[in-house]
Amino acid sequence: MRAAVLEAYGEPLSIESVDAPALAPHGVVVDVEACGICRSDWHAWKGHGEWADDRVPLGQILGHEPAGRVARVGDRVETLAVGDRVAIPFNLGDGSCYQCRNGHGNVCEDGYALGFEPSVPGAFAERTHVPHAEFNAVTLPKGVSAEAVAALGCRYVTAFHALAHRADIDAGDWVAVHGCGGLGLAAVQIATALGARVIAIDVRDDPLELAIDLGAEETIDASELEDERTDVPGTIRTITDGGAHVSIDALGRAETCRNSLECLRIRGTHVQIGLTTAAERGEVSLPIDEMTRWDVTLVGSRGMPPSRYDELLRMIDSGALEPAKLVTRRVGLEDVSDRLAAMTEYETRGVEVVTEL
Ligand SMILES: [Zn+2]
Ligand SMILES: [Zn+2]
Repeated sequence: MRAAVLEAYGEPLSIESVDAPALAPHGVVVDVEACGICRSDWHAWKGHGEWADDRVPLGQILGHEPAGRVARVGDRVETLAVGDRVAIPFNLGDGSCYQCRNGHGNVCEDGYALGFEPSVPGAFAERTHVPHAEFNAVTLPKGVSAEAVAALGCRYVTAFHALAHRADIDAGDWVAVHGCGGLGLAAVQIATALGARVIAIDVRDDPLELAIDLGAEETIDASELEDERTDVPGTIRTITDGGAHVSIDALGRAETCRNSLECLRIRGTHVQIGLTTAAERGEVSLPIDEMTRWDVTLVGSRGMPPSRYDELLRMIDSGALEPAKLVTRRVGLEDVSDRLAAMTEYETRGVEVVTEL
């Protein structure tokens, strides 16, 4: 089968003919119909993560945001059949550890990250394998397309879990979203659908216009402020008359992380969903005394447990959420490298999806 393989960091992915995935007794093989392209792919492609011993090894098939049809079913799998349409979470669990058994498969003690480690080759390929498929694969409602799921990607499920489960936002809350790439724009759309009032912050016009289309009530172009670091939190406190109830750093730069914490109102919640770059190497200095002084909560959030996908898929099926609206470009497997390169200078807008595998 055809697959896009990471052969050298920062160089075009190699389009190769590779062996079809082997089928585990607990797994299924899925014909990939669509797969999102994501900034996490860009980090892997660039070879980031070595400071955390988390660099994706060469030889990896990338691609972690797929949906498709079950093509082969392992001997021990009873609840899935050939032809079933499924979404595949990137944060795969073993289905048996304490966290998985208690509904937190996204943080499985022995989990896998699809498309980022050799045991789970990714979905920039004609077919991909889902281990522990009864636990991990999520059956799609009729009204939800493979492209909509690819558009969901990890960004959408990450934003949903962060807002609905980790921050537990209430209708009417002010939610600030720092960074309007795919992840931030997903947060804008979801927070709006959950009844929040959204402020979107970025340094580019285009994503801010898209944020308005997706429901943001206010936008802040930080490039127009004299000092991004001090003026962004101040502007948000003015708009919200005291600060945001919930603020999300969807970018992972030191500035956006600190701005997000400092724009909160008393007892506000900051959720970190953007991963840092080589500049921060996973660490950001934070105003910890202020957080203590004002009962501020800081939470991390990763992906979403497979068992809770149903909540999100029902909102898409009903039309309350429209992830397909975020798709700005559909490409073939051989175009993925170009689109990753475009991310280096933040040239992409919204969500780009591979639909020709
Ligand atoms: Zn587990
Ligand atoms: Zn992703």
